[in-house]
Amino acid sequence: MQIAEGTVVSMDYALKDDEGTLIDQSQPGQPLVYLHGHRNIIPGLESALVGKTSGESVDVRVEPAEGYGEPNPALEQVVPRDRFQGVESLEVGMQFQANTDQGPVSVRVTKVEDEDVTVDGNHPLAGKHLNFSVTIQEVRAGTEEEIAHGHIHQGGGCCGGGGGEGGECCSSEGDAKQSEGECQDGGCGCAH
Ligand code: ZN
Repeated sequence: MQIAEGTVVSMDYALKDDEGTLIDQSQPGQPLVYLHGHRNIIPGLESALVGKTSGESVDVRVEPAEGYGEPNPALEQVVPRDRFQGVESLEVGMQFQANTDQGPVSVRVTKVEDEDVTVDGNHPLAGKHLNFSVTIQEVRAGTEEEIAHGHIHQGGGCCGGGGGEGGECCSSEGDAKQSEGECQDGGCGCAH
């Protein structure tokens, strides 16, 4: 079966930056599984996989615009050190939650000077080319339920086995299988 919208894809992958540094990879025997065509993976990778079949290996170079976007200079800010009360030694690379008009944003410390601390709210991979090496393990048709939810259901349960009770998935019909708190508005309570 070829990868197309509504198929469930299992793949091994490695992700490197342009310097060849390994950023992320799937663990042996634990492929990444996703429902194709529902924006579950970054757009540049998803579009490059269309038409591939199990056993195929693909190298994909994804432009920033099709990956994590270009860095937004407005998300970089210099804040006074005294905003970090209770933090004994501030170091580049530390992560904090910043409260902004748009809600909490995860920021990284990118520079520490005497009284000035530069924090960056951009995704760490913003502005980077993403070099994926992918091997397709399996392609199957998604179930009606998976396509309706926009994500995969694994292990007979909902949401990767963690959402539905007793292995049952949430139902949009409001039947007895729904367990409280997990299925709202006919949706699935998982955060995928
Ligand atoms: Zn679900």
